[in-house]
Amino acid sequence: MTTPALPTTEALRDRALDSLRRVGVTPDQGDDFPARTPITGEDLFGLAAATEAETEEALEAARRAFLTWRSTPAPRRGELVRRLGELLRDHKSDLADLITIEAGKIRSEALGEVQEMIDICDFAVGLSRQLYGRTIASERPGHRLAETWHPLGVVGVISAFNFPAAVWSWNTAVALACGDTVVWKPSELTPLISLACDRLLAQAAEDTGAPRDVHRLLLGDRAIGERLVDDPRVALVSATGSTRMGREVGPRVAARFGRSLLELGGNNAAVVAPSADLDLAVQGIVFAAAGTAGQRCTTLRRLIVHRDIADTLVDRLTAAYRKLPIGDPFDEGTLVGPLISTQALETMRGALDRARAEGGTLLVGGERRLADTAPRAGYAEPAIVRVDAQTPVVREETFAPILYVLTYDTLEEAIALHNDVPQGLSSSIFTRDQQEAEYFLSAEGSDCGIANVNIGTSGAEIGGAFGGEKETGGGRESGSDAWRAYMRPATNTINYSSSLALAQNVSFL
Ligand code: NAD
Repeated sequence: MTTPALPTTEALRDRALDSLRRVGVTPDQGDDFPARTPITGEDLFGLAAATEAETEEALEAARRAFLTWRSTPAPRRGELVRRLGELLRDHKSDLADLITIEAGKIRSEALGEVQEMIDICDFAVGLSRQLYGRTIASERPGHRLAETWHPLGVVGVISAFNFPAAVWSWNTAVALACGDTVVWKPSELTPLISLACDRLLAQAAEDTGAPRDVHRLLLGDRAIGERLVDDPRVALVSATGSTRMGREVGPRVAARFGRSLLELGGNNAAVVAPSADLDLAVQGIVFAAAGTAGQRCTTLRRLIVHRDIADTLVDRLTAAYRKLPIGDPFDEGTLVGPLISTQALETMRGALDRARAEGGTLLVGGERRLADTAPRAGYAEPAIVRVDAQTPVVREETFAPILYVLTYDTLEEAIALHNDVPQGLSSSIFTRDQQEAEYFLSAEGSDCGIANVNIGTSGAEIGGAFGGEKETGGGRESGSDAWRAYMRPATNTINYSSSLALAQNVSFL
């Protein structure tokens, strides 16, 4: 198979600047850190990071904007999010271009990420009329007990490179509808898509008469993230990234009694039972394990297959892996784009070496690609490794396309293996046996925040709450009632009688 040539860094730079221009951004070029593309692994141009004074000014502006935004009626707040959704629709192609250029996603996945932003805006517009509290039966005559949900304050959003725009929109669309203001510290690897999103939100604010400072963007490295973590004006720190980052952020926010919402690493598995539809399983597994070059938090990393079908399934998977087109993510035919960096490629190779040293057998993939044409980029063949046990490397998240295959004899054994990792994000079972499927979804089954049947671990819809347990951090974002994390509940006791009855029949005076 011949690989089409990669675009040049100059062509990618022009394409990024054109997309930015159409969105209304002229980037402040500087020399603090580079905007770069994993397609060639080269820098596009330099950017300026937010200074300490700018960071302080943004936090104060967001705090002040909250004072008016919190008392703007929620359906009117929804108007801002509706307008943002319209602008995202208008600029879908430009935004997808920026995601491909900075994160290396193939075109259809980059468009999918923008669609996810549009979807959460639609969701949040509806939510702006549904911030329901409950009325509770009071134990006292002539009393009413109620629960009211109020806006929380400034939300600090810290995001990862691999969903550079969708994670921001999950947080921001919901936070804005809930009456919060947002200060965003995106990944230092994806500044351009952040500039574009910030610009479109500023435009939406202008168009709807909302305060400009309901949203502020701070470009820069983790030091700016740490500033948000420690600042008492930030009521909620919503941080998405590695477990290492969450381990640092969680205790620091807790030390000042702030709230945190952590969306951290996963080590997701699928169980494949003997009754599974193997055609469907192969498709689901290949997308979940090799899609996005293995760089989704929900990427399938462990396959737990019944012994009777393991050889057949593994043969079909290795055949599918050999045909995966790897290369330029802008090329229509490509299914696997680059890893984010050559460092990520080294991490992948290191994990494969460790897997072999721990007794695993590499069945397919693992080789570097396009090293001659793009020596600074990290293109890799997705790999499958057969292992006999869940060794230390299998229990870690390596953010690259490596699928470890284990076998099982009983479903109880499969679930024990499944749950025996520190992370708890996404999981699935392929089976046509309803008892097995229900057992997997039950309290004795998967211990993850996401549990699926006959579909892979990745590619969640925005309507459900997204997040996971254990070292994945416990946070929930996006749909369902995840909005509650962005508000504070107040319990109200209203006495409409003319006597003062005390709770629990306490008598006094
Ligand atoms: P990362 O942890 O290196 O960085 C994430 C963000 O945190 C960046 O903006 C970074 O600047 C900031 N940061 C790092 N250390 C910090 C600190 N001590 N204080 C404050 N901010 C800090 O992650 P990454 O490499 O960009 O992303 C990949 C990781 O993110 C993977 O582990 C993946 O599973 C995880 N992820 C999780 C989810 C989820 O929803 N659970 C979604 C996407 C990515």
